[in-house]
Amino acid sequence: MSEECVECNICVKQCAFLKKYGTPKNIADTWSGEGNQSLTRAFECSLCSLCTAVCPVKIDPKRMFLEMRRLSVANGQADLSRQKQLLNFEKRGTSKRYSFYGLPSGCDTVLFPGCALSGSRPHQHLQNFFPNLGIVLDCCTKPSHDLGRSAYFAAMFSEMQRYLTGHGIKNVFVACPSCYAVFKQYGKGFSTRSVYEILAREYWQPESLFSAEPVTIQDSCVARFEKDLQDSVRKLTRSRGISFEEMKHHGKKTLCCGEGGGANFVAPDLAGNWAVVRKKEVQNRRIITYCAGCAHFLGRVAPTAHLLDLVFDPVATLAGRATVARSPFTYLNRLLLKWKFKRKMKYGFSRERVFSGEE
Ligand code: SF4
Ligand code: SF4
Repeated sequence: MSEECVECNICVKQCAFLKKYGTPKNIADTWSGEGNQSLTRAFECSLCSLCTAVCPVKIDPKRMFLEMRRLSVANGQADLSRQKQLLNFEKRGTSKRYSFYGLPSGCDTVLFPGCALSGSRPHQHLQNFFPNLGIVLDCCTKPSHDLGRSAYFAAMFSEMQRYLTGHGIKNVFVACPSCYAVFKQYGKGFSTRSVYEILAREYWQPESLFSAEPVTIQDSCVARFEKDLQDSVRKLTRSRGISFEEMKHHGKKTLCCGEGGGANFVAPDLAGNWAVVRKKEVQNRRIITYCAGCAHFLGRVAPTAHLLDLVFDPVATLAGRATVARSPFTYLNRLLLKWKFKRKMKYGFSRERVFSGEE
């Protein structure tokens, strides 16, 4: 980084974190791996990759900040006490109580809705998407991945992978862009597809078309380089007869909602700046997003709805009446969803997860 970054400041102009600490080269040159600033600074970055997207010499500062986090954790020097809420959320998702794997005999494909979506929108047709699929209610452990807990992430993800491949699973359909990113990068042996691409290409039959005020679309920062996924989201929106207008930052140059990398737990002012910029670009339009985290965070600055709500209940969604659960009801909803799946189908193989990362 130190040799490659030409300090053009293009990324700095976009990012409050870099405005505070300087160019990626400057941060790399002053990083020692010791001392309070070196240990905490990388955790203030949202890991959103906007710097990577705009860099004219094509270097990847986000990767450097993730590596800094990993080194701090590996050295036993990182203090993750302020991210405890995030880690507890993840721990519940992987626990025996909340997890459920249901694999019908002969099935080679599972739906992985992700913990945020299944908690907030449990009744929104998730279980009706693909009735003969297997189901995996679990957490992809991206929070630990992003907090630099590499050993824990590797242990948890590889155990899930072994179980699924060992039971003949080859395809994973995901609804959450973070799960999508994790499965695409680490899910060797799986073909990973988003439910939005599948709905847009193969399954979607519009039930009704109607006119409405244009909405605008928030691309998730973890999906900023996923053009096919972004196109599918727009196709699905159009298929409901709903027009949209792009914000200045969209697609590859989209903005983080403020949740990325858990930066909001240690630097709420820096993470919150993304939403401030977004608010200026929204211009009174309703935001449609395909990330439950973005829906939650941007809902604080503008009317925001999840794409699945728009697709399956456009009238209520555009009137601001889509039902979205908040904590602690999200946890209750996840238990209800699990109970429904357990009762709904006959499975050849099923389990609740008891693995906790300890071999
Ligand atoms: S917050 Fe985003 S744009 Fe800023 S340094 Fe981190 S990854 Fe790059
Ligand atoms: S855009 Fe690239 S070259 Fe320019 S300051 Fe940022 S990292 Fe360095």
